Amino acid sequence: MTELTGGPSLPQERRVVTAIPGPKSLELQARRTAAVAAGVGSTLPVFTTRAGGGVIEDVDGNSLIDFGSGIAVTSVGNSAEAVVRRATAQLADFTHTCFMVTPYEGYVAVCEQLAELTPGDHAKKSALFNSGAEAVENAVKIARAYTRRQAVVVFDHGYHGRTNLTMALTAKNMPYKHGFGPFAPEVYRVPVAYGYRWPTGPENCGPEAAAQAIDQITKQVGAENVAAIVIEPVLGEGGFIEPAKGFLPRIAQFAQDNGIVFVADEIQSGFCRTGQWFACEDEGIVPDLITTAKGIAGGLPLAAVTGRAEIMDAAHPGGLGGTYGGNPVACAAALGAIETMRELDLNAKARRIEEVMKGRLAAMQEKFPVIGDIRGRGAMIAIELVKDPATKEPDAGAAGALAKACHAAGLLVLTCGTYGNVLRFLPPLVIGEDLLNEGLDIIETALAAL
Ligand SMILES: *Cc1c(COP(=O)(O)O)cnc(C)c1O
Repeated sequence: MTELTGGPSLPQERRVVTAIPGPKSLELQARRTAAVAAGVGSTLPVFTTRAGGGVIEDVDGNSLIDFGSGIAVTSVGNSAEAVVRRATAQLADFTHTCFMVTPYEGYVAVCEQLAELTPGDHAKKSALFNSGAEAVENAVKIARAYTRRQAVVVFDHGYHGRTNLTMALTAKNMPYKHGFGPFAPEVYRVPVAYGYRWPTGPENCGPEAAAQAIDQITKQVGAENVAAIVIEPVLGEGGFIEPAKGFLPRIAQFAQDNGIVFVADEIQSGFCRTGQWFACEDEGIVPDLITTAKGIAGGLPLAAVTGRAEIMDAAHPGGLGGTYGGNPVACAAALGAIETMRELDLNAKARRIEEVMKGRLAAMQEKFPVIGDIRGRGAMIAIELVKDPATKEPDAGAAGALAKACHAAGLLVLTCGTYGNVLRFLPPLVIGEDLLNEGLDIIETALAAL
């Protein structure tokens, strides 16, 4: 077997030896600009050679601290040992048959793991796909087949993907939807409990927002027309918004009372990211369907819809699937990733990351009023930046400037939020605590220089 050069064996250090991006990255960037469609962006155009643990190494020999995990994907680290071992063995055995042509055990084993790990002890089944958007699309198909209704309710600040239906489900116009319509019909958007920006304050936000949302559904759509309510238990692209306490249970109860399928989109928040297997466990929510992707397979493309057996079985035989859905190599990787999460107790690691990050960020907030809010759970933490803590006017410029300063110092961070003013931190759950603190030092220095 060839010697592994990335993954866990990669030196766990920050190293900045050129400008970032360096000359070799700039050369590749010129080739990229000529060959790759302009619509496909990159947060930081440094070209990767190896990655693992908490670092990303580039073609110029720089080693960046990774606070992004490829958008919450490499939670077990890049090229994690069990992922590489299982996926490599599978690659040598067979790469594809199409599960709909001749099946294989790995697909079934992933569905068994999903049944065990997702909330609730009812009978569950799963179907596997390639991307998060595909999983959300299929959750809607299944809910419509089960309820024989059409309407889908989603929330302000929600993000569910870039396909036609999931663009319709997504709240934000730029960059996700602008110019790409017309969008799928029968999609209705209602308020979410965004505590920091709720007019009467965070304490009242959960029940008030739930009442508003339910009132809109009842009056504008009609509960009896709604097939599914789709929500992220922690809203990701929308700005790491944790719906204020009480909101999710009220909405889930409303769904149950009205025969509506409650879908938790845990594509970003699932698989230990928030310090629990799934973020909806925090308030004891048991969704009817749950969509997963990102962290599920250590970097290989895999997604799933998991839920109550009677709902999952509502779609007719042959109605679900896809050529590559549940690819055997991706399934092997998922089994390796789940094994790693269990063995290293990555839920505990995520909670420790939260403790370190929130402690340091709270101290920074005292010094830097630009930090309006600190929020999130586990290793899904964000700061919302404002021009003035009294008016809470969003400061997207500060988020951009901070991200730029972090990148120049060798720390990869991402931005998000409806107003573009949120800096989000999604480190791999296996990151060392020294690197985590070094990353926070860089953020503190960048805040001071703002
Ligand atoms: C990323 C994301 C999606 C879309 O997943 P893709 O794999 O990019 O299609 C859907 N929902 C949520 C909550 C996400 O974070």
